[in-house]
Amino acid sequence: MLINLHTHLEGTVRPGTAAELAERMGVATPEGGWENAFRIKEKGDLTIFLAHVAMAYPLLGNAENLRRVAFEAVEDAAKDGQSYIELRLGPATHARKDLSIRQVLEAVCRGVEEAKVHTGIRAGVIACMLRHEPDEIIAEIAHAAIALAGSGIVGIDIAGDEILYPALARYAPLYDLARAAGLGLTAHAAEAGPASAGREAVELLGVTRIGHGSNVASDPEMLKWVRARGVTIEVCPTSNVLTGAAPSLREHPVVDFVRAGVKVALGDDDPENTGVRLSQEARLLVSEGGLLAEDMRKFAHDGISAAFCSQEIRAELLAKWSKG
Ligand SMILES: [Zn+2]
Repeated sequence: MLINLHTHLEGTVRPGTAAELAERMGVATPEGGWENAFRIKEKGDLTIFLAHVAMAYPLLGNAENLRRVAFEAVEDAAKDGQSYIELRLGPATHARKDLSIRQVLEAVCRGVEEAKVHTGIRAGVIACMLRHEPDEIIAEIAHAAIALAGSGIVGIDIAGDEILYPALARYAPLYDLARAAGLGLTAHAAEAGPASAGREAVELLGVTRIGHGSNVASDPEMLKWVRARGVTIEVCPTSNVLTGAAPSLREHPVVDFVRAGVKVALGDDDPENTGVRLSQEARLLVSEGGLLAEDMRKFAHDGISAAFCSQEIRAELLAKWSKG
């Protein structure tokens, strides 16, 4: 069973859709075509990785495109055999004069809702605040997410450059509001930043999940702490290798998480950029990472436990999980 807690909408755009949208919007085709522009072919760093993801940004500046891309992302997840997906995006990146942050989120929620009906998959949307964004934008994203709690938005997240913008305290009041509104809380932390950034995210923001969290594995005390707190790490194996956060799948921090008994949920981060969807991530962790099929089964269970879904959907997913 496949439970996907970490995918960015911006990294799911089908090359064929990109070509169509680009033509309609008058966006020039990148040299070598869209598939080539999106796909990361060798290990680099987070900056190079994000440059590939950003190729899709000019295509996402209107509501209909956002709806369609969100629909297709969830449809592709269903085709991959995923039972549940949380799709996240940074709405401020796509907002325009005539398209508010809230309208961006509404368009994505519409596409996800349509795909849920069409495929039967369970899904939710997470709104990401980006660390470089000014305070008023950060606040607008959180308030738009809160307004749409129960209408498709299931959680909030922070993403972006952890090294340049390490401070987390600025988000704390917004995380408090989001929690009160019933939203789930996660944050990208300890991916480029130190292990302690994971602990800060939990203590300052009250997150129950940490996105990537690779560097948590470098500190045995932090591993114990994360385990004791029951925090779930959202692991995106191939993405971590391509950004340099992990040297290889064999030496991936997920191995340390498993050994330390830390909860792990899988994600495929940006599947059109990495070329790897969740089903393949799970297969690769076994064939190349040295993990066991039982570990994958536990990841699915941890994913269900940590999902930002209703108790009804959690019960439904657990029933499906217990049938194997
Ligand atoms: Zn991510």
